[in-house]
Amino acid sequence: MGRMEERLKKAIADTANTTKKVVKQLSDNPKSSKYIPPHRHCVICYTPVPLDADPAHCGDQPCAEKHARQEKSRKRLNLMLYLFPAIAIMLFLLPILT
Ligand SMILES: [Zn+2]
Repeated sequence: MGRMEERLKKAIADTANTTKKVVKQLSDNPKSSKYIPPHRHCVICYTPVPLDADPAHCGDQPCAEKHARQEKSRKRLNLMLYLFPAIAIMLFLLPILT
């Protein structure tokens, strides 16, 4: 038990160290070649787009259309997520109240 625990702790520490090193390599200095400016990606084609892009796609016609479709189906799903439980509750309550 003790040995296993120690090995696990060492592995965790090693992983943490490696992660720290990698994060350090990505510089905060805008002049460094390792610098990555804050940005986001087009939700369809993953092209980098400005941080404040809204809607979050690159503006190309296919991406805009696909994004609009996705948004529509997402809204419909969201509505159903609330509507179906509401109907279920009503069906359950109706026989009790009448
Ligand atoms: Zn795109």
